[in-house]
Amino acid sequence: MDGHELRRTLAVHDRIARIYQDDRFPAGYRGAGDLRMFAITVVWVAGIERLASNGDVWPRVYEILGLNDWRFWRLIEQDVPRYEPPGDLLYGRQCEAPMIRKPGLCGKRGCTWFRVTDPSDGTWRIASYCTRHEALAAQVHAAQIRQAKAGGVPEPFPNAGGLLPSYFGWDWPKSYAIAKPGWKPPAAGIRADDWPALAKVAEMAPPTLSVLAGEREGEAAPRPSGLPSLRLLT
Ligand SMILES: [Zn+2]
Repeated sequence: MDGHELRRTLAVHDRIARIYQDDRFPAGYRGAGDLRMFAITVVWVAGIERLASNGDVWPRVYEILGLNDWRFWRLIEQDVPRYEPPGDLLYGRQCEAPMIRKPGLCGKRGCTWFRVTDPSDGTWRIASYCTRHEALAAQVHAAQIRQAKAGGVPEPFPNAGGLLPSYFGWDWPKSYAIAKPGWKPPAAGIRADDWPALAKVAEMAPPTLSVLAGEREGEAAPRPSGLPSLRLLT
């Protein structure tokens, strides 16, 4: 191992350590559905194993994680850059009508739900009202419809997904669109590192793209077919 290889190996270990510590990865997945383990495996195979074998990355990643094409694309779908509203969407929603004679909210179980959008930044949440407050719900809902018709509400910054592009290069816009048909890249970009809501690790220099040593020019990975080879971000 020469000095160049050693530095590369250390850089891969450093990257894996950063993935372990990155608390933006979703919790609660196990095994083949774990996005963090997927990222670590890709970086390991592309950065370490591939140097030795000069083989293709994806078949080995599939083998290590027990993936098939369906599971692979569900992993990528987990990481699609998007805005997610706060809280559970429908379950356990309580009526948010203000009480008239005492401070606080009604709190009864909601039976009407709709989106309420903040026109200043485009973020939205689900509002809920109980049967007793149907009239208020109708008013708020009508105001929301007027606001939407008037236009000019900005696209909300994404606050979920976009983690994998922070760690390895791929044709992400194309891949995300395959994983989630109809998805469009957010104006803020596809990397969580570039979004204000998730911006962190300020001490880390922004990665730039580089071709991994040993990668053959124009080589097509056998799976997923037709997509370009992986690059490590260094
Ligand atoms: Zn109520």
